[in-house]
Amino acid sequence: MRKVFNFSAGPAMLPEEVLAQAAAEMLDWHGSGQSVMEMSHRGREYMSIHEQAERDLRELMGIPSNYKVLFLQGGATLQFAMIPINLMRGKAVADYVHTGEWSKKAIKEAKLFGSVNIAASAEDRNFTYVPPQSGWKRSADAAYLHYCANETIGGVEFGFVPDAGDVPLVADVSSTFLSRPLEVSKFGLIYGGAQKNIGPAGLVIVIVREDLLGHAPKGTPTMLDYKVQADADSMLNTPPTWAVYIAGLVFQWLKRQGGLAAVEARNIEKAKLLYDYLDGTQFYRNPVERADRSRMNVPFTLRDAALDEAFLKGAKERGMLQLKGHRSVGGMRASIYNAMPIDGVRALVGYMREFEQRNG
Ligand SMILES: *Cc1c(COP(=O)(O)O)cnc(C)c1O
Repeated sequence: MRKVFNFSAGPAMLPEEVLAQAAAEMLDWHGSGQSVMEMSHRGREYMSIHEQAERDLRELMGIPSNYKVLFLQGGATLQFAMIPINLMRGKAVADYVHTGEWSKKAIKEAKLFGSVNIAASAEDRNFTYVPPQSGWKRSADAAYLHYCANETIGGVEFGFVPDAGDVPLVADVSSTFLSRPLEVSKFGLIYGGAQKNIGPAGLVIVIVREDLLGHAPKGTPTMLDYKVQADADSMLNTPPTWAVYIAGLVFQWLKRQGGLAAVEARNIEKAKLLYDYLDGTQFYRNPVERADRSRMNVPFTLRDAALDEAFLKGAKERGMLQLKGHRSVGGMRASIYNAMPIDGVRALVGYMREFEQRNG
């Protein structure tokens, strides 16, 4: 058993079972005599790892057969550009919902490739809520509708899937990937970096409906064309083999946990434990509208910011790491992704109570 709980927002904690399995297979994967890191990406062994990872992801999420699964690089940040490049399809405007720091970055990048209509923004209340869809002002002929399903920094999560009608719905699920079931058929494209909830940094997963492929304009760099990547089964160049392997082990771990519905139930329980405690005290505060609170990233402030350092020091002494909030928000942030056991949340709440009693 490891002796620490890592509350980092990403790269984040991985399941101990997965790390132990990777360690056991490190020098000799399944009798091949090689580490996965040393394998040819076109060899039989690695191909089987890659294909199994895709199969397991498809099974976990129930991905319909008319969707491609791409294992790419460049992080979610490169997707901020690849999405408008591939999905504008000659149209004049794309709709974006602005709910915080990550939406903002996606919007900024999209503006390099076309016009952006901000269908809704939560800026009026400092990005502490999800604007209800009834008030969104969408364009008449948008190429797609983009939203960030979970704002990792602000701790704001969509509890619903927006209704986009016939317009392709695009979601950044970097920090909520596989934390709850998602009906893939409602989306044109879903994307997320692996390092928050799935595996090591270096891998971004894109799930895209087939009819949206093949529309990149002339002059698009080959690597940035979804169609080319899909036709090459994400092997246009050397894929991030190690990251795909670990992600595959995580998919198998999630299946052993009982699949996404079971994982969601545990995530609800973990988040409730922490939010219930926050709501019962004046010493700590979470600024987010209750219905829109993230199950994955829980930002909170102490009543007196002068105590922040002492709080972090005491947490570290008790084996609770990376609780410092994002520099743009301050205070604390506890990221409690799939791999965070409930005992980690219990330990955090216990420490928060103890700290409050000592300093309140
Ligand atoms: C971390 C994060 C990103 C950026 O991911 P990179 O892999 O660093 O490019 C984008 N969107 C969300 C919601 C994130 O949490």
